[in-house]
Amino acid sequence: MEKSTPKTYKFKAEIKQLLDILVHSLYTNREIFVRELISNAADALDKVRFETVRGTQVADPELPFEIRIELDKENKKFTITDTGIGMSRDELVKNIGTIAYSGSAKFLEQLQKDQKGSIDQIGRFGVGFYSVFMAGKEVKITTRSANAEEIPVQWHSDGLGSFEISPVETAPRGTKIEVFLRDDAAEFGEKYRIENVIKKYSNFVPFPIYIDGEQVNKISAIWREPKSSIKEDQYTEFFKFLTNTSDEPLTYLHFSTDAPIQFSSLIFIPQTNYEIFGMTNREHGVNLFAKRILVQTSAKDLLPEYLRFMRGVVDSEDLPLNISRETLQENMVVSKISSILVKRILSHLSEIAEKDAEKYHKFWKEFGRIFKEGHTDFLNRDKFNELLRFNSSTHKDAGELTSLTAYIERMKEGQKDIYYLSGPSREAVERDPHLEIFKQKGIEILYLYEPLDEFVMTGMHQFKEKNLISADQADLSSLKDVKLGDDAAKEEAPKEENKREFEKLCRRLKDILGDKVEDVRLSERLTDSPAVLVSKDGSFSSQMQRLMTILNKDETLPKKIMEVNAKHTLIQNLFEIYKKNPKDEFLEKSATQLFLSAQLVDGYLVDPHQLVQGTQELLKNASSWYLEKI
Ligand code: ADP
Repeated sequence: MEKSTPKTYKFKAEIKQLLDILVHSLYTNREIFVRELISNAADALDKVRFETVRGTQVADPELPFEIRIELDKENKKFTITDTGIGMSRDELVKNIGTIAYSGSAKFLEQLQKDQKGSIDQIGRFGVGFYSVFMAGKEVKITTRSANAEEIPVQWHSDGLGSFEISPVETAPRGTKIEVFLRDDAAEFGEKYRIENVIKKYSNFVPFPIYIDGEQVNKISAIWREPKSSIKEDQYTEFFKFLTNTSDEPLTYLHFSTDAPIQFSSLIFIPQTNYEIFGMTNREHGVNLFAKRILVQTSAKDLLPEYLRFMRGVVDSEDLPLNISRETLQENMVVSKISSILVKRILSHLSEIAEKDAEKYHKFWKEFGRIFKEGHTDFLNRDKFNELLRFNSSTHKDAGELTSLTAYIERMKEGQKDIYYLSGPSREAVERDPHLEIFKQKGIEILYLYEPLDEFVMTGMHQFKEKNLISADQADLSSLKDVKLGDDAAKEEAPKEENKREFEKLCRRLKDILGDKVEDVRLSERLTDSPAVLVSKDGSFSSQMQRLMTILNKDETLPKKIMEVNAKHTLIQNLFEIYKKNPKDEFLEKSATQLFLSAQLVDGYLVDPHQLVQGTQELLKNASSWYLEKI
């Protein structure tokens, strides 16, 4: 094909869908397209500046790094030009129109759910450029790559179904975007309007922005300035700039240090979790600067995974400008900065937890799930463990939280360990028969709802010299020093000789169940339920065993001990039947039913049909008996 002929391309399906929505809807916050174009221009300038300081030969090296906006009110035209990295022909085709990042489908989904709110978030999904079609009926991009060997090209589209690419004679390095405004978007041809948008969102762009030749922004690296000279709303504005949203931060941490490494940092915790559910890349949010020059956005090596939700800036005088992004990971300066940063962030969180419980609670609700991944950060273990929060049996609802320290303060006299129990929900945990003895003794139990929690607990093993123990594995002898709770029913335990008799029943039940159980024994932990399965001493909790089964794809069931409650009418009746005829058929059937339902509660039932059939048969017999009685 001849180089000079224009070539038409179709927009990728998701992009076309997105454009359809953007073109045809009337959004009130259409102004964000200005923010998105400026942010793209600033990124492009950051990239070319980075190349320049590393000594790469770029096209038009004499051009200053800047953004120029030209407004033509009469002809309803908005033009933005940057002297950034530009795009080659291939990059242009790829970046604008034909590659649909995983974010575009996600963004479409969100847009369809909540149009007004979500449009503001477009930049987060990697499709910010297309917002230009909210205001433009036609858009032309002219760009020349900083790579001097590439030819300048033009992109042209009405945003409907396709775009056209053609070569151009000459163009300076960088990108010019001409937006032919829709009649109802003529306001974006007015200076005051654009200035206003820049003030709102783009005040911290580190390059001069000119409107019709006049510079409209001040350039400041606010993270390098002393804390005392910065007003609260400047922080908020900077956060908005960083996240490309109009959100406010939950809290921030601003500090500089000179030893052992010089760096300044301004780090925010957002109000909401920006991690897009279902997206594969976990986005880190701190940008790394060396001597005020952006070296890496979303710098993965600055913070561990469990703090990836932080947003902000780190700037060091001690980092060489020509550092390659590939070697950042091994860089000693970066790893030292990282360890100082983590310590400071954890202290900052402790401070919030202490001084503003409500704020900390908000933090935990939003980020607790990610934060808990830090249970493997052994260097900061003590601080980290203090920051963990749990729902517990002392709370009235699932939204309340406690720390481990607060738990210890509430421990009962004679209680030695910290107890927890896992389950899919508060309701499920509260119905777990393993809890009964703890309820009776008024011992608090931490409720764990997420699979990771159990790893956190077993990994931690101890907190302030107290063992962390899953309630379904507790050694009951360790509870004997804890007196019964005030409202516990003072039931008489079966007398010794009675106990021995009951043990005969247990042996018979073990006989009936055979290999299915390790043993059958009398329970000291049950008050309301007739039976429960417990693990052999020293093995894993039920939840952990379930997880291991899934992880190891192991289908074999762990053999458990069935405990029966001699105070329960059902067990007492079975005992009477047993005394009459140890081989009784009803006894046999009941034993199996009892076992299956205990298995169900334990989360392990493999054969629901057997349980259902048995239940139905028992119901059938019970109903016949009942009919005779009424
Ligand atoms: P994002 O900027 O979030 O990646 P956009 O849809 O805004 O998503 O832009 C898509 C891509 O197009 C950018 O990643 C960048 O590679 C390229 N691009 C956009 N604007 C410019 C520009 N002014 N200069 C150079 N490249 C640009």
